[in-house]
Amino acid sequence: MPSHFYFPFEKDFDHYSPKVLDGLSEYEKYQLSFHPERPKYLDYLTIFSSLEECLHSKEFGACLIQTHRALFKIDDENIPVMLIGQQSGPTSDYNTFQEIVTDPELIKSWNDGMPTPISYEKAIKAVKIANDEKRMIIIFVDTPGADPTEESEAGGIAWRIGGTIKALVEAEVPTISVIINRGCSGGAIALTGTDITLAMENSTYLVITPEACSSILYHDRHHANEAAEASQITSKEGLKHGIVDELVEEPNGPAHRFPQEAIRSLKTALGKNIKKLNELSPSEVLDRRVKRWSIMGQWEEGDKVKRRHRSRIPESNSNGYIKRHSGCRDENGRGVFDPVFRDHLMSQGFVCDTCGYRYVRLSAWDYIDMILDPGSFLEHDQTASVLDKDILNFPGYKEKLVLEREKTGLPTAMITGDGQIEGKAVIFCANDFGFLGGSFCMSTGEKIWRAAQIAIDKEVPMVIQAAGGGARMHAGCSSMVSIPKAQLAITLVERSGLPVITLITDPTLGGVAIGYGSRGIQLFESGAGNIGFSGKRVIEQYTGHSVSKGFQTTAWLAKYGHAKNIVKLSDIRDSIKEII
Ligand SMILES: [Zn+2]
Repeated sequence: MPSHFYFPFEKDFDHYSPKVLDGLSEYEKYQLSFHPERPKYLDYLTIFSSLEECLHSKEFGACLIQTHRALFKIDDENIPVMLIGQQSGPTSDYNTFQEIVTDPELIKSWNDGMPTPISYEKAIKAVKIANDEKRMIIIFVDTPGADPTEESEAGGIAWRIGGTIKALVEAEVPTISVIINRGCSGGAIALTGTDITLAMENSTYLVITPEACSSILYHDRHHANEAAEASQITSKEGLKHGIVDELVEEPNGPAHRFPQEAIRSLKTALGKNIKKLNELSPSEVLDRRVKRWSIMGQWEEGDKVKRRHRSRIPESNSNGYIKRHSGCRDENGRGVFDPVFRDHLMSQGFVCDTCGYRYVRLSAWDYIDMILDPGSFLEHDQTASVLDKDILNFPGYKEKLVLEREKTGLPTAMITGDGQIEGKAVIFCANDFGFLGGSFCMSTGEKIWRAAQIAIDKEVPMVIQAAGGGARMHAGCSSMVSIPKAQLAITLVERSGLPVITLITDPTLGGVAIGYGSRGIQLFESGAGNIGFSGKRVIEQYTGHSVSKGFQTTAWLAKYGHAKNIVKLSDIRDSIKEII
């Protein structure tokens, strides 16, 4: 008799009826979506014929995204496809797993299902092959997130994920993604910026794990169920919010109990969707893609909330000095207490000469003042009315939005407008870390989309100043699904022959980094830190040890070849002028 894996809650009933499934808590549904016996990417390969693995590599991380050339048969036609699959573990067979679990090296090589930069490099190469060989791209999504380690940051994981999204929005062939199990965070959105997104009935699609969300909301990890409820993480809810196009039935019950039925069901659903996209010409594929992403996301068209200029540059005393930051120590560890000359500090990008501490994170208004000609910034009417919408009725979100607007003087984290640099017109998008951490959300995607259209219409270069952390958890997975939208908008500007310049400031992480921080001609603000995918705290918590000195600063990134153009704050305006 083969044995099986059971979650504690599965012992209360004999079989899964629709009623039993509905009665599970949100956290139990979450656990079910990555039940170790649910079919994985390699199990689904039986749907296809003439399989041929490509880009095989033994490097660490390579097994987490696997790629195959294959054929998909519809009627009498064999349609060439490129398969890109996240394989989250070695096997879905419980008995096989029991045998190999004793091999720690093998288990380690699966990295808890978290792809590394090498995994995404494979995906980018596979998209290129698909373009060259005219193969429709079919993607299988199954990951708890991208690898949160210093090694992956050094390998440029933010740029690899951003590059994967770019490759997919620019693909010359149709693209379909299927969330088969759990599709979590940037690790998943890397691969779901596609023409169609399907999801298995009992899968989940989420921006942050319920445990991590609980830590932020309730300051402990014990409210994961409430966090899962608030975030609406099931793919069924994703369908309701318009971020999943079609649910694929698991007709006899959850796929871990009825894997063959689930695989057959996906074959039918894929057949229908492949046929639909296969009938389109390449230009129709692009038109459809632009139309699809133009309406992605939800926001409110509100009254213009009052703008207030808010600077975070410290005021000096009458002699031009400001108080030195607390905790300053020289190289011998001695405390330093004397005040500092503000103008000197400004010329150093607000980085302490003595210890490298950064005094302030500038506001969006500060960047507007420093980069554009005085008084030239004029907010776009087309984006001014776009406000964040509380689509989940998320705890405390509405109140937070009111406070953040007051604090930053901004309508949303991003503000866009026309501006000039020495008389030359630019479209300027500024983002403020002070507005809910500058998190990427649906209004960001929509504002970049509209600003890009204005840039194209007026034939004017676009400058985007990046500052912010991850995708905004208060709007759940929908925030994250606006990331490919921003990327496609940037692609459309570049395709019309106009430069897009991104200014990377402190911090540029997660959703902001993979959304627009990894695009265009990138200028890195000298002395800035917190640039990459996972933040320092997340990495230290996961790995249990401290990151190295200078981690994620521009100098550290330059050492690994990720930051090429490092520019002093005072020179940014000139650098942009030179490019445009
Ligand atoms: Zn200092």
